[in-house]
Amino acid sequence: MLPIAHDRHLLDACFLGPYAENDAMLEKLVVEFLRDHVYWRRNFHPEDPPAISTRAALHPDYQEFESRMRRELHQLSAALKRSVPFHSPRYLGHMVSDLLLPGLAAQMLALPYNPNNVSEDAAPVTVDMEVQVGLQLARMVGYQDDPAQPGCAFGHLTSGGTLANYQALRLALSLKAFAPALRAARPPDIELPDDDRIGFNLAPAECIALLLRWQQWLTAQSAPDRSRWQDRLDAQRIEHRGLVDFFAQHPDISPPKVLAPITAHYSWSKGLKLLGLGRQQLELVEQKNMRLDVERLEERLEALRRAQQPVLMAVAVLGTTEYGSIDPLQDLITARNRFAQRGLGFSVHVDAAWGGYLATVFRAENGQLRTFDEVRAEFENFPAPHVHAAFSALADSDSITIDPHKMGYLPYGSGAFVCRDHRAMALLAERADYVFHEPVAENYLRRYRSLGQFIPEGSKSGAAAAAVYVTHKVLPLDHRNFGRLARQTLLSAEQFHTRALCFAREVADVVTVVIPIEPDSNLVCLAFNPVGNASVARMNAFVRQLHEELRCDPRQPLQLKEFFGSSTTLRPEIVGTDETTRLLTSLRLDPASLIAGEVNSDRLTILRHTLMNPFLTDHENGISYIGLYFEFLARRLRALTAAAK
Ligand SMILES: *Cc1c(COP(=O)(O)O)cnc(C)c1O
Repeated sequence: MLPIAHDRHLLDACFLGPYAENDAMLEKLVVEFLRDHVYWRRNFHPEDPPAISTRAALHPDYQEFESRMRRELHQLSAALKRSVPFHSPRYLGHMVSDLLLPGLAAQMLALPYNPNNVSEDAAPVTVDMEVQVGLQLARMVGYQDDPAQPGCAFGHLTSGGTLANYQALRLALSLKAFAPALRAARPPDIELPDDDRIGFNLAPAECIALLLRWQQWLTAQSAPDRSRWQDRLDAQRIEHRGLVDFFAQHPDISPPKVLAPITAHYSWSKGLKLLGLGRQQLELVEQKNMRLDVERLEERLEALRRAQQPVLMAVAVLGTTEYGSIDPLQDLITARNRFAQRGLGFSVHVDAAWGGYLATVFRAENGQLRTFDEVRAEFENFPAPHVHAAFSALADSDSITIDPHKMGYLPYGSGAFVCRDHRAMALLAERADYVFHEPVAENYLRRYRSLGQFIPEGSKSGAAAAAVYVTHKVLPLDHRNFGRLARQTLLSAEQFHTRALCFAREVADVVTVVIPIEPDSNLVCLAFNPVGNASVARMNAFVRQLHEELRCDPRQPLQLKEFFGSSTTLRPEIVGTDETTRLLTSLRLDPASLIAGEVNSDRLTILRHTLMNPFLTDHENGISYIGLYFEFLARRLRALTAAAK
């Protein structure tokens, strides 16, 4: 096993640090590049004299403005002292930690240039960087990342994972509805599906093949014919007609379902509402150990196939928000391929908003996938075989969501959407995008410089794109670079897990401690029940009391908090009957006290810990914040149970 200390010296340089140890480095960078920006302005047209007089600062209006600005900034700065200390190894709460210096510096450096990544006209530099980020992420997950290849992947940034998931839905619907639209437009000489039902149920790869045949055919037409045919197709497309009209016009097909695990993030519900398909089309599939239950998924798919109910997409979550669990993506891919042959085509999207960057641990520098044994040699238990299999299967998915602002350690405002075959993106273009380009890297880049054509947003931050790009250049997305950071989080989670098992024995006289879900990644949950208590309501009240001490409280000085953690719940309708019974037994709870519909007793409240901070082990001073956290927990658990007596 590679010792944690092995990565220590690299990590020392990556962040501002818990004590802001690298303050001089950040300050130097900020000042250096701010000056650089100043000279850039002055050198634009040095013959233009300064427009603001050197005496301007003497005027009362100027001084009044400056004093007002200072006053407000002081207030802002003071207020921000109540912020959550995400940077601290005492923070184990949500999916955030310190920021990587290259990203922070690049974003600050780029801000005064204010590039707008809607298009190259407004961002001649950073729009290319955003397209490159798409390729960097594509390589990390095993998609084709050479723009000179015809089926190269494409990715772009979004405001977050929510919008990336929405973009996946939008693209899948465009692809799915393409064949029926093309049939309605009736172009001659193109081989079309026999009927709408077949067309609407093509596999994503077949939809793309049909799109390419159409584009090739169009390219061969004269210019006036081409635009006439393009208009004719556009008039038939679902994006033009709207859902109501489109399905009225195609009575043999109906609005498609989306299948997602019951543990899926609520952005999926938002996405279906936003798309206009409606929340009703989202079917949540049962889980096993918080991982999608593929048998149940296949049963659902078979039932839908028999009912001639189309399916838009099946979602796999790579790192669930609440439990960090990893769905068996490999089995979803198999199901997708099998059902496509039986006339039920759908896409597989991976919601890796949280777990995406863990792929760096599995990726060798040459882009190859690392074997199970290679990865396994670096850890105590990670990865479970199904986890390695899921990461191996990423390359076969149709699209992926990854959040640089979560495990990418980058500032908020950066999610990412990546699709496996960029040629599908033509369907999302606002302007006709039919010209069939030869697959030359330069064409690829030229096309996506009009980024606003393809993304859900309009104007967007080029500085954010620069931050992600520079970070990926400094720490390439393989196991020897960024992967060392990801490995650190997994090793911390293993330490936390091991420590939790000892801890459970140490406090067994006062509290029963259970790890309710075996962690797949770097998120570990803990359940607590005071000895002698059999009531779910009382246990929940106890855990909420504990959580009160771990949550942000703006009315109190920050320093009063020893640690920050988060809570989540286990609901029987999600966990399942057998698993709920097992949990209740292990926590010595009375099953009769779990009451459906009762606010305080219809679920189990537990603590959730995100082990993302790179300095959980302080090698310099020999401090383990994981150890300190469990000491804190032991103290609080004993105090709380004593107070209750
Ligand atoms: C966080 C998260 C999202 C949503 O991402 P935002 O960046 O918060 O919009 C979606 N899916 C999963 C699994 C997540 O963890």
